[in-house]
Amino acid sequence: MPRDVIVVGAGPVGLMLAGELTLGGADVVVYERLAAPARESRGASLTKRTAECFDQRGLLGGLGPTEPADAHFGGVPIDLAPLAEDHHGRRGVPQFRTERMLEEWVTGLGAEIRRGQEVTAFEETDEAVRVLAAGPDGPAEESAAYLVGCDGGRSSVRKLAGIGFPGSEGRRGFLSADVTGIETRKRRIGENLPGGSMIMAMDLENGVTRIVVHEAGMAPHDRASLTYTDLADAWQRLTGESLHHGECRWLGCFTDASRSAAVYRRGRVLLAGDSAHIQPPAMAQGLSVGVQDAVNLGWKLAATVRGWAPEGLLDTYDAERRPVGEQLARNARAAIELRLTGEDMDPVREIMGELVRHEGPAGHLAGMVSNLGVRYELGKGEHPLLGLRMPPGRELTLTDGTVTPVAGLLRTGHGLLITTDPALARLAEGLEDRLDIVTGTWNQAYEPGLDAVLIRPDGYVAWTSPGTTDELTGTLARWFGTAQRS
Ligand SMILES: Cc1cc2nc3c(=O)[nH]c(=O)nc-3n(C[C@H](O)[C@H](O)[C@H](O)COP(=O)(O)OP(=O)(O)OC[C@H]3O[C@@H](n4cnc5c(N)ncnc54)[C@H](O)[C@@H]3O)c2cc1C
Repeated sequence: MPRDVIVVGAGPVGLMLAGELTLGGADVVVYERLAAPARESRGASLTKRTAECFDQRGLLGGLGPTEPADAHFGGVPIDLAPLAEDHHGRRGVPQFRTERMLEEWVTGLGAEIRRGQEVTAFEETDEAVRVLAAGPDGPAEESAAYLVGCDGGRSSVRKLAGIGFPGSEGRRGFLSADVTGIETRKRRIGENLPGGSMIMAMDLENGVTRIVVHEAGMAPHDRASLTYTDLADAWQRLTGESLHHGECRWLGCFTDASRSAAVYRRGRVLLAGDSAHIQPPAMAQGLSVGVQDAVNLGWKLAATVRGWAPEGLLDTYDAERRPVGEQLARNARAAIELRLTGEDMDPVREIMGELVRHEGPAGHLAGMVSNLGVRYELGKGEHPLLGLRMPPGRELTLTDGTVTPVAGLLRTGHGLLITTDPALARLAEGLEDRLDIVTGTWNQAYEPGLDAVLIRPDGYVAWTSPGTTDELTGTLARWFGTAQRS
């Protein structure tokens, strides 16, 4: 029997997608070329929106201790105090901890992860995609209705699908390592040094320090020949301190390349995460935006394979997420120039510093830094929340007296229609396998007209009252299809 979906890559994005697809009722297998989980700390900060995405599936507690992340754009601090809502993300979560939490969730839901299996080729027909993989027991093949490449920046799936990856080449190299046994002053968001060099030292867990060094003019290094001594030498040249005695747990070199896939879907093949967009980690968002790609795609692809997806639903994935990936690639380039262009950039940094003391510019930047500013085109209504994510901490009292935040209602991966009006609830009859109808009242008076609200499975507001029943009927059909009447 062909699978519904083959996901390539058990990084954070592939795992999140596998969980979302399984919640949506799809039969999923993940192919991962590594025999055992990676121990890399890379994505150690999560944006506010990604923390919310984990929360709405009940996963946030599984990450263990975290701290509020510092808000900055290319090293220019952003003052979040004047803003109505907290935009702080979380930091201090090594990427392997996020992956471990997600892997436990995914396997608990029943999805299969096949480790030590590298996808090497695929062939697409009208009905399916036939995937070839190489593993310790030799070649294997399997078919599925859809194939999703979550296989990182060098994605084989993207290349085999012939999807272009336009953008800028990496010109600068950044040496990065996780090190134990060293004492150095922490520079959590990094420090600019004269002439365009930068250094960073950030605490991770269990005495591990993340070190990043870029010396002005440093080109990308070949990872195969890079040694910890190269990094320690560069650190010493810039700071005068020796880290040579440290024990290196992981070493890498990232670049300032920024690219975004020309399309996120071609036929039965889709891309998510780094396979769809790469950028230098100056915004600390690659993992976060990739996880949000997965949350956007998961329910739409599950609806497609289960047969209830309305016409065009799957294509809204590209329409909604590609602009977000392109914006991230642009922002990361801007942030890296702000960071690394030497004294010539000082006046621009000063002006940025002035601008972010005003609520409008600070709010715009905070929206991008936290990803809370992501707004999809979800209809013509006037409500300020339309197209934005529903703030998941808002509380409702249900008819049985239970008090719950919105996040607690999204655990099933279904959409939500929150209303006390039986006439509106009747419009959603027959959609119960994909939409939960919740009768409840808000514990506080929030924006006007929130008596009834339709929230997609990814947490975004698709419709609010006041509005006509025809509008709600149309919106239900657009996102949730037609009722299965027996
Ligand atoms: C130094 C550094 C710091 C960073 N900090 C942050 C941060 O603070 N916050 C943040 O959000 N992001 C950060 N990032 C970015 C983040 O690490 C990436 O965006 C994230 O790992 C992308 O996840 P992914 O699942 O798309 O890809 P990956 O994590 O690259 O996972 C891809 C997986 O696919 C597997 N694979 C590849 N090819 C195949 C194949 N052919 N067959 C089977 N399996 C395959 C790989 O083995 C891998 O497990 C940082 C990156 C770096 C380098």
